[in-house]
Amino acid sequence: MQFKRRLESRIIISFLLFGTLLSGLFAVTALGMRQYLENVLINETLTTDLEEWLDGLLEGSAVSVGFSSRYYAYTARPQNVRSGLPSALPNDWELRAQVVQLMALPTGIHSVETSEHIYKVAVDKRQDLWGYVIYDSTPNPRENWLLAAFLASAFVLFSMLALLLARWSAGRVMAPVTDLARRIKDMGDDIHHEPLAVNYVDDEVGQLAGVLDEYADRLTALVVRDKEFNADVSHELRTPLAVIRSATELLMAQPDLDERTRTRLMRIDRAARQCTELTEALLHLVRAERANHSTGEYYRMDRVVEEVIDFKRNQLGRKPVEVSLNIDDSFLVCAPEAVIAVAIGNLIGNAFKYTPQGHVDITVRNGKVIVEDTGPGLENDDLQRIFTRHYRGSSATGKGSGLGLAIVQRFCELYGWRVRIEPRTDGGLRATLDFSQEQQ
Ligand code: ADP
Repeated sequence: MQFKRRLESRIIISFLLFGTLLSGLFAVTALGMRQYLENVLINETLTTDLEEWLDGLLEGSAVSVGFSSRYYAYTARPQNVRSGLPSALPNDWELRAQVVQLMALPTGIHSVETSEHIYKVAVDKRQDLWGYVIYDSTPNPRENWLLAAFLASAFVLFSMLALLLARWSAGRVMAPVTDLARRIKDMGDDIHHEPLAVNYVDDEVGQLAGVLDEYADRLTALVVRDKEFNADVSHELRTPLAVIRSATELLMAQPDLDERTRTRLMRIDRAARQCTELTEALLHLVRAERANHSTGEYYRMDRVVEEVIDFKRNQLGRKPVEVSLNIDDSFLVCAPEAVIAVAIGNLIGNAFKYTPQGHVDITVRNGKVIVEDTGPGLENDDLQRIFTRHYRGSSATGKGSGLGLAIVQRFCELYGWRVRIEPRTDGGLRATLDFSQEQQ
């Protein structure tokens, strides 16, 4: 399964995206908060420091202001603002050049920038004493670098944690689903399987298993019903067919029959026998479980083939087709005779039916029955599909239902045989029915 399509991968990817997004948001928020708090704290400290310092000066007590080397404080008298530069100004000529503007600032906190520094200037203008505190708030590059490194590490760490968590939880979420799929696969064709739902708690997967159980039960009931119906019909057909055959036999036993009537009676007998074989075979087919329905009898393949050829020969009519039977080595097959006869009969019958002239060669060898004909053969397209029910070849002539080969294949599945149909190099078809697994 492709990585992109797997449900588990989708869960992992969503989890990872979510985790990464959260880490990113956290980093951005942390930076913003830091900026905001720093601003508020500095402003508050500057205002309070300046206020206390001025109060002290006015009261005549000595109050010191600030401890930092970035902190500068000075006072001025409103009446002699222009008396020169205050000594406590930072050593920044750009700022010193702006001293008149600084003096003119109203009470409050102000931000003043020069090309290399950012200052916070707190101004408190009392009636006859103006106080100034300047704080150099230029960000420290090392501090910034450390903060960025910390945030980047936190981002990577959280994303990895999100990935681990995603894998773990995706595995946990998907485990019952994978297990359910495995159980369904393990069931194979067995229709009498254990219910699936008993293996799961009553969550979504448990409900899915329950629904699948119900569905399987409905299908099983349908299949069983159809099988029983087919078996019943086949069974019911036996009696009237037996009546037809015995009546025909009695009629044929009459001595004064003319040749035409005898031929017709023989045709009726053949058709009735074919129907009997077919219904017998169908009975076995619908009962399916071969082990339970094997008669335990073995049949010699050469005899069955000879009988089938005899029986089907009339399908050749007057066509100039030569039939040859080569028995290299015969073998025994354990299956109901009707089933073997129908399987071989369908292959031989097709060869007789579709060969307009030439020969049909039937060989019994190495646990196989091989039927070769000099008929029209089949196109590749047809060859792929001839085992499909009701499929008739594009150039199929005469009557036919397209079921013969499908029935042969079904028998093969049931009895472990193999059927193969292939074109012969010099035209026509070769059909091989391989019983070798059954060979005795
Ligand atoms: P049906 O003979 O009733 O059409 P089958 O299932 O026996 O049904 O055969 C399916 C198709 O395979 C036939 O319609 C025919 O086109 C093709 N076929 C089978 N055997 C032969 C053959 N010996 N020579 C040519 N075509 C064949």
